[in-house]
Amino acid sequence: MSSTDIHSFHGGLKLETYKSLSNNLSSLISPLPDKIILPLKQHIGHPANPLVKIGEQVYKGQIIAEPDGYVSLPVHATTSGKIRDIGLYSVPDPLGIKAPCIVIEPDGMDTWIDIRGVDNYLEMDPVTLQNRFRDAGISGLGGAGFPAHVKLKEGTQTEVELLIINAVECEPYITCDDRLIREKPDYIVAGTRMILHAVQARKCIIAIEEDMPDAVNALLPLLDDDIELVKVPTIYPQGSEKQLIKTLTGKAVPSGGLPIHMGIVMHNVGTAAAAYRAVSRGEPLVSRYITVTGCIPSPRNLQVLIGTPVRHCAEQCGYSEKSGNSIILGGPMMGTLVQNMHVPVIKTTHCILIRNKLNQGTEMPCIRCGNCAEVCPVELLPQQLYWFSRSSDHNKLKQHHLFECIECGCCSYVCPSNIPLVHYYRLAKNEINQRDLSITKASESRYRYLKHQERLKHEKKKKKLSVEQLSISGKPNEKKAYIHEAVRRGRAKRVKKQQVRKDQKDE
Ligand code: SF4
Ligand code: SF4
Repeated sequence: MSSTDIHSFHGGLKLETYKSLSNNLSSLISPLPDKIILPLKQHIGHPANPLVKIGEQVYKGQIIAEPDGYVSLPVHATTSGKIRDIGLYSVPDPLGIKAPCIVIEPDGMDTWIDIRGVDNYLEMDPVTLQNRFRDAGISGLGGAGFPAHVKLKEGTQTEVELLIINAVECEPYITCDDRLIREKPDYIVAGTRMILHAVQARKCIIAIEEDMPDAVNALLPLLDDDIELVKVPTIYPQGSEKQLIKTLTGKAVPSGGLPIHMGIVMHNVGTAAAAYRAVSRGEPLVSRYITVTGCIPSPRNLQVLIGTPVRHCAEQCGYSEKSGNSIILGGPMMGTLVQNMHVPVIKTTHCILIRNKLNQGTEMPCIRCGNCAEVCPVELLPQQLYWFSRSSDHNKLKQHHLFECIECGCCSYVCPSNIPLVHYYRLAKNEINQRDLSITKASESRYRYLKHQERLKHEKKKKKLSVEQLSISGKPNEKKAYIHEAVRRGRAKRVKKQQVRKDQKDE
């Protein structure tokens, strides 16, 4: 089946998987919720700009917010109904922040807008195909939420040696990719071929874990010489981009570098399925598979509309909210704890994990045992990063490659002193980003201030010169005309400003 040699990466953990809780039953199509909450930013990059007004009727698949720039994506209505609100709502975020969202009240009809697929995508040039993925709002469904077209475009600018479709679902409890492959293998394989055409890669691998035999059996009959299926060892975090590249090629992505610098593009299986829908049917990304699992009556995988509240998904699996439980979006290692169940499922949500409130044990001083460094898959020095995070030593944190940390949680997992190391790294990253942002903003406003001063000086000089010229010419009529013209210009400017303000108010 596979001619690719398997390599290993440093560290990692063998974890209890708890996959059988949810992957033995077929997925359930979740019924329509009573509201759909669509954040304007579900991807890395700029949030989209709303195109609709409160009270407006929209249809499933309609673009309701347009992308703002190249690294941005449109937002589509995921069902038909009325726009109920545009405002700040809780979104999946560890800090519990609110973000701009469009809220739809479903009309229960789930009526599609007119959509059209492509008969033969091989006749399309790669860039047109990439644009179709962008217009369908496809971002990576594996977690980071990078707009798919950006990764693909890099592929046409740099030659792509290898396309990897990542079917490695290495975090415990999560089985949505496993179920997706078992139920829709044809979508995955067809979507993989479409991405292959969009990046013109020389070689293509679908990488899958050894412990997913049913998924392997579903894919194998659909493959040909153009796609190789490679089984990789079940070790956490095998599914992380850089670790999987190391396993498949033996090469490390250089610090600060990207896979494309090595001629590699990677996408998740969910992205491949979304690519298939976008191209062959013209469907934008409006739904996804998610795992709902943990301490609930019926753990299961659901097919849900993007924007469905977490509470509605959990209820489909027999759960009713209890105090004393933790709601985690994602897996137990990399997931984020959310404050309430009103937050919506977004494009990157792959799991809702409900656990009894964790007794994490009391945090104790570091005993310098070195366990954390042994398991770190990026070969960082987690203990050092911990000290520098505590002392907010940003320079040292950068020197010790804090931003290379993939927040896999292996170090926290093995720490005998119960130190929530990843928590410290996240805070430190946030601090550094905020500081860098305020430095950029300060230098930008200083630059604007200096430019403004320069302009004022220039205008003053120009005015003085004109008045002097008039005085020299000594012609009273010309002077009068000059003053009259200046007054007229000032008045016209004021009227224009008032008109703009009035237009904005009307909008
Ligand atoms: S595992 Fe914990 S106690 Fe051991 S060196 Fe790392 S931070 Fe310190
Ligand atoms: S969370 Fe970061 S520092 Fe800790 S093991 Fe993972 S990559 Fe290394």
